Amino acid sequence: MPLSQRLNSTLASLRAAGTYKHLKYLASPMGPSVKIEGVGEVLVFCSNDYLGLASHPEVIEAGQEGLRRYGAGTASVRFICGTMECHRQLEDRIARFLGTEAALTFVSCWNANAGVIPTVVEAGDTILSDELNHASIIDAGRLAPKQTTRLVYKHADLADLAAKLASVAAAPVKLVVTDGVFSMEGDVAPLDELVALCRRHGATLVVDDSHAVGVLGAYGRGTHEHFMLPGAAPEGVDIFTGTLGKALGGAAGGYVAGPRELIEYLIQRSRPQLFSNALPPSVASSALKAIEILEREPTRLARLRANVARMRGGLRSLGYDVLESPTAILPIIIGETAEAIRLSEQLLKRGVFVIGFGFPVVPERKARLRVQMSAAHTEAQIDRALEAFASLKRP
Ligand code: PLP
Repeated sequence: MPLSQRLNSTLASLRAAGTYKHLKYLASPMGPSVKIEGVGEVLVFCSNDYLGLASHPEVIEAGQEGLRRYGAGTASVRFICGTMECHRQLEDRIARFLGTEAALTFVSCWNANAGVIPTVVEAGDTILSDELNHASIIDAGRLAPKQTTRLVYKHADLADLAAKLASVAAAPVKLVVTDGVFSMEGDVAPLDELVALCRRHGATLVVDDSHAVGVLGAYGRGTHEHFMLPGAAPEGVDIFTGTLGKALGGAAGGYVAGPRELIEYLIQRSRPQLFSNALPPSVASSALKAIEILEREPTRLARLRANVARMRGGLRSLGYDVLESPTAILPIIIGETAEAIRLSEQLLKRGVFVIGFGFPVVPERKARLRVQMSAAHTEAQIDRALEAFASLKRP
């Protein structure tokens, strides 16, 4: 079979290159420590459970209550008979939290990006995307109508973006799309300047705030709050996308938030809305509870920040090259891919779960260990991780 041959040959080359991914099966809920099949109990520094809500008792209880009250799922797309009260409650809460007029949920942020970016552009329009944007944004752009221009600007480079915007001045709609926080660098998009640039060029700014919501800003509202911008144009962002699968409960689900007419339009035209089931009510209910806890307990944000500072300070004092950032992502630049992978394996043997990323996910010779912090880590757990880092044998 030609297909099997091709698949097997690609898999063999991945194994030979040392980039074959082996799934690790967890035998416990996500939290600051987990039990991994064949490995045992380890401290987790690679999940996106930034606020420690994925296995919070109230979040679990809310999910169970959603399941009891509404059943397993909608058995329908939203517009036929798949919209429940819990969807409206969650969407109203997301909009209020972010400061937008309205919001619409999707089964993932991957779907939210695919559900908004190609849907709002038409022939003659232009999509301008940061070169380090998440894969879901890149793929969403590929779904745009053929006669749409797609441009990629240099990472967070306002001069390059300005030049590209000027080159497409005649395009009726210019959609600038950026991650709020970039997952591999842990850096923050210059949102204040991006908003100003977009206003000058009559462009629409879309921000995927998946790694920032629940993390950045005085109340965890995200990148716009970090820059003290409102949640709506003209002074703020035009459109947000984000995930419910990281800080906001860690289950799954995504959203688009923005002006009311945008949300109404997506209900009419967004293909993942029209042709795919709604977010399961258990997940809608647990995410709603996660936002409620975040709003009720601002100390979680303070704890997350203190944990980030403790880990960064500790790693630096051990001589590790940790990139600076206000986010919960601490990339440690190692250099060669094989070395980053070797170090992550050594850490796991010492009971500390940190992932190594190498080329082609990050540029060559910029392979890294990516440490991700949670409000749920205790100081003792962070110190144990630092002891493991201290004991690593490095060339
Ligand atoms: N957008 C960004 C910036 C992400 O980092 C991720 C997850 O890695 C996603 C979208 C996808 O989110 P989801 O898991 O909800 O599809």
